[in-house]
Amino acid sequence: MAIRMSWFDTHCHLQLDGRPPAELLARADSVDWLVVPGIDKESSRAAIELAAAYPDRLVATAGLHPHEADQWQKQRDDIVSMISRVAAVGETGLDFYRNLADPLAQESSFVGQIRLALEHEKPIVVHCRDAFSRVYELISEHQVGPSTVLHCWTGGPRWTRRFLDLGCWFSFAGPVAFETGETVRLGAELVPPTRALVETDTPYLAPPPHKGEPNEPAWVEFVGAALAEVWSIPVEKVAEQTTANARAIFFAESPSR
Ligand SMILES: [Zn+2]
Repeated sequence: MAIRMSWFDTHCHLQLDGRPPAELLARADSVDWLVVPGIDKESSRAAIELAAAYPDRLVATAGLHPHEADQWQKQRDDIVSMISRVAAVGETGLDFYRNLADPLAQESSFVGQIRLALEHEKPIVVHCRDAFSRVYELISEHQVGPSTVLHCWTGGPRWTRRFLDLGCWFSFAGPVAFETGETVRLGAELVPPTRALVETDTPYLAPPPHKGEPNEPAWVEFVGAALAEVWSIPVEKVAEQTTANARAIFFAESPSR
C-alpha cells in the first residue's frame, strides 16, 4: 500500500490566483503546508489574512518584489508593520531580465529587506533572475546565506556551487521538470536533499504534464518527482526531506536529520 506523502509547497501565491483558495487547497490533498508570499504591501496583507483563515496549513510572508522595487520607500513602513505576523521577509531579490524597476531601486529594496530580515531574525525569500552575481555579492556581504531561500532556483552547476558555499536553501519549481530544464537539473544534482525545498510558484510555471496551465499547489508532487529522478531516490524520500527542511527554515524547527 502506498504511504501518504506530505508536501510543503514553499512558494504559492494563492492570494494572487483569482480562483478560490478553498478550491485549490481542497485539491491539494497531500500538501500539508504552504507558504503564501507577498509581493507588495497589499498582497502581503492578503497573504496574512489568508494564513489567518487557515492557521494549520498556511503561513504568509511580507515583502516587496523586485518588479515593484521603486515603491520601497513608500511601502517600507507598512511592510515593517507586518513582520511579526509572517514567517519570512520577501519575496525580494533582483530581476535584471525583465528590469521592470530600475536596477539601483531593486538593490536598495533588496538590501533594505535583507536588513529587515536580519533585524527580526527571519528567513528571506529571494527571487533571482539574470542577477546571480549581484545577488551572490549582497547575500555574501550581509552573511545571510543560511537564512536565504533561493526561490524558483534555476542556476546551473557553477552558481549552484557558489550559493551552496554561502549556506543557502534551494527551492525548486516547475523548471526542474521542464524538457528544457537540463541546466536546472545539472544544478539540482549538486544540491544535497538536505538543502532543497519544493514549490509551485502558483499560478505560474506549472510543471509537465500541466505546463502552460495555471499552476496549483496539488502539482508540487511533479516537481518532487523530477528531483527524485535527478537524485535517484524514492519520491517519498523527497517529500519527507523537503518538508523537514521547510519546517526547519519557516518554523525555525531544528532539523530532524
Ligand atoms: Zn513569487
